[in-house]
Amino acid sequence: MSSDINPFESLQEQLDDAAEYIDVGDDVLERLKNPERILETNLSVEMDDGSIEVFRAYRSQFNGDRGPYKGGIRYHPGVTRDEVKALSGWMVYKCSIVDIPYGGGKGGIVIDPREYSESELERITRAFAEELRPIIGEDRDIPAPDVNTGQREMNWIKDTYETLENTTAPGVITGKAIDSGGSAGRVEATGRSTMLSAREAFKYLDKSLPGASVAVQGYGNAGSIAAKLLADDHNARIVAVSDSSGGIYNPDGLDPHDVKAFKNETGSVSGYDDATEEMTNEELLTLDVDLLVPAALENAIDAELAEDVKADVIAEAANGPLTPDADDVLADQDVLVVPDILANAGGVTVSYFEWVQNRQRFYWTEDRVNEELERHIVDAFDDLIECYEEMDLPNLRIAAYVVAIQRVLSAYEEAGSWP
Ligand code: NAD
Repeated sequence: MSSDINPFESLQEQLDDAAEYIDVGDDVLERLKNPERILETNLSVEMDDGSIEVFRAYRSQFNGDRGPYKGGIRYHPGVTRDEVKALSGWMVYKCSIVDIPYGGGKGGIVIDPREYSESELERITRAFAEELRPIIGEDRDIPAPDVNTGQREMNWIKDTYETLENTTAPGVITGKAIDSGGSAGRVEATGRSTMLSAREAFKYLDKSLPGASVAVQGYGNAGSIAAKLLADDHNARIVAVSDSSGGIYNPDGLDPHDVKAFKNETGSVSGYDDATEEMTNEELLTLDVDLLVPAALENAIDAELAEDVKADVIAEAANGPLTPDADDVLADQDVLVVPDILANAGGVTVSYFEWVQNRQRFYWTEDRVNEELERHIVDAFDDLIECYEEMDLPNLRIAAYVVAIQRVLSAYEEAGSWP
């Protein structure tokens, strides 16, 4: 992993690349490349032993031209102001490409959650929710889970917000547990959009998904569910998976459910019995497979590593797993990359469905959620391919940004500028 690459610079470079194909002035482009506002705060929280610890936390509201800011909250020691800015920008264009009425936001706390007890994490989360309260809301900014956060944290944030506002507002946050106003299908949604994007990409290339070999880097929520759906729904062969402890390999295919159960029990995929080989993350990323799914963190593949990538298709479940230079290398090698802003947009799309259901106080079946999700992802893939072919663009990422930026631009221009 190349950690010295600034993700915010990567985002800006991607926007610059796409802007070359769009009729947009430098003044408006500057607006599209920078967040509208950022909250940076230090949370002072009492630990179980009575001491006070201070945690740096951020919320970036990047662009609200198409609707309320929307995006997850990440708990990770590597969270930085620039990372949060980049992730919030990617949310703008992700919501736009799948055509849901949101802008983009993102938040994070600089923390390794494994070092804290559940009660400490609850106090830290509630302290952050209190800081967020003036700037979030059902029509203002709607957070969601991201790396190392899930239903538990979302329920705490919702409860803190509702208590302080003396109201019920389940739509203030998405990714909640079902009994707290969550949506059926939300937990699987990101992995499902990765599977759907890969399916559409294989169809586009006239390649067969049944029997195709798949490697998945990062076996968390997004990666493990993509693996399960690819295997269960399309008979793809999951030959390698990894997490931060390293990777495992079996050319005949691993059982993605069993690997997940093993990871839940032991904390990592390493040491899984049915693997024929253990490998590093770098080895996994350069395996000769039909489909590679990077589902861990940013910048997993830089230009140097990209030279050795042998996959035919990459479906980006993680946000920003390829550096811009890696994109160029992979395009030269004819690797079809389905960009993150489409391949992992299932999470935010079903978050949108959750919010719609919360506002209507009327809940959908899981089948309806999955059907609506499929429609959004397939329509977005078709829009992207149409733009890619019509404009003869270098890669699908540029096509996705061209479509997405044009929609944001229209909303901005139609609203007019004020004051
Ligand atoms: P998660 O915490 O459930 O899983 C992350 C996994 O990556 C873990 O298994 C972890 O061990 C592994 N990992 C961490 N560092 C690694 C490394 N250096 N090499 C290999 N594996 C490593 O997180 P998640 O929710 O699955 O998110 C993963 C990615 O997907 C992130 O980029 C996130 O922004 C993106 N994403 C997630 C969602 C969602 O709804 N969960 C939505 C959109 C995008």
